[in-house]
Amino acid sequence: MSKIEIDENGYYGNFGGAYIPEMLYPNVEELKSKYLEIMYEDSFQKEFQYLLKDYVGRPSPLYLAERLSEQIGATTYLKREDLNHTGAHKINNAIGQVLLAQRLGKKRIIAETGAGQHGVATATVCALKGLECIVYMGAIDIERQAPNVARMKMLGAKVVPAKSGSQTLKDATNEAIRDWINNPADTHYVIGSVVGPHPYPDMVARFQSVISEEIRKQLKEKTNSELPNYLVACVGGGSNAAGTFYHYLNEESVKLVAIEAAGHGVNSGMSAATTQLGTLGVLHGSKSIVMQTEDGQVVEPHSISAGLDYPGIGPLHAHLFESKRGIFLSATDDEALEAAFNLTRLEGIIPALESSHALAGLKKLDLKKEDVVVVCLSGRGDKDMDTYMKAMG
Ligand SMILES: *Cc1c(COP(=O)(O)O)cnc(C)c1O
Repeated sequence: MSKIEIDENGYYGNFGGAYIPEMLYPNVEELKSKYLEIMYEDSFQKEFQYLLKDYVGRPSPLYLAERLSEQIGATTYLKREDLNHTGAHKINNAIGQVLLAQRLGKKRIIAETGAGQHGVATATVCALKGLECIVYMGAIDIERQAPNVARMKMLGAKVVPAKSGSQTLKDATNEAIRDWINNPADTHYVIGSVVGPHPYPDMVARFQSVISEEIRKQLKEKTNSELPNYLVACVGGGSNAAGTFYHYLNEESVKLVAIEAAGHGVNSGMSAATTQLGTLGVLHGSKSIVMQTEDGQVVEPHSISAGLDYPGIGPLHAHLFESKRGIFLSATDDEALEAAFNLTRLEGIIPALESSHALAGLKKLDLKKEDVVVVCLSGRGDKDMDTYMKAMG
């Protein structure tokens, strides 16, 4: 199998690159020419590691879920990203990008958000650093996600409604891009997943790679080997999965399992299972697999979980899929709900709906008793309590 790595133009195999309007060249070029140098400076690493430890609460535990293991029939560990400050893995990337923006001399931070998790993480770090923060959010999402909108406002961010199109994530992204074009000198755009033009997918994967760096150490302590048989993570854009897989991409004995959201079912017309339904296309600045019609119109995705409700997938994952290095499965809304209640009753942990898709995927693997499985529990379920209560009837 050929090595999984990104080339100097930002491609993983056939996917990636930077497909952007000319007006964005200066911003993206600046980032591309400086991100690696800045990220690996001693002073940057010192501050980043310090905040991950004392502010986020890392390392997040690698928890042996004994009752779940018994049910699944294999030793199953949960990587507890749900215990991070602000409740998910997104804070790892938000801290990294805001520190980087400061070193680029940027005074203004913009972000787009769908359900609000990435917006909250970005607003949190901006409050910590005293930076101006503007979050673009679809007008419909602002109504649906009131608690996260309130959190962002309390943190001092300005939440700007995107009122065009379907008034959701895609439209918020367009507004954020427009803002960035108009404010190239003083503004950094914090993208929340391993999507967007190069260097974003690589930069976000590197910030999230702390997840697999810790898994290797923690697994070695617990099992005497750094290598599990399976790593399992849910995929929206793919950042928690990229972080979970990163330091294992070229360990061929470790199976990398990505679980997409099937919504009402892959062929129901109400799904977000991009690798099953998508074709080669360009979305938000990179070439990848995209859910689209024959003439290239993006198809509206559906998932019960807002964080997986995305019609594309990061270029790393498109390459893992095409090269067969990754195993891509999907879980429906109902399967995710069932997995959420199952984990809650077995382990006393209420998972985010996104993470519940990863848990639902466990049943679809042909596991043996001696297998060691690590599931990325990307976030906690507090934000999903309305949905869970409706499901309880
Ligand atoms: C946003 C989110 C996701 C999906 O995003 P990825 O970039 O695919 O990780 C998954 N889980 C949680 C808890 C989230 O908030």
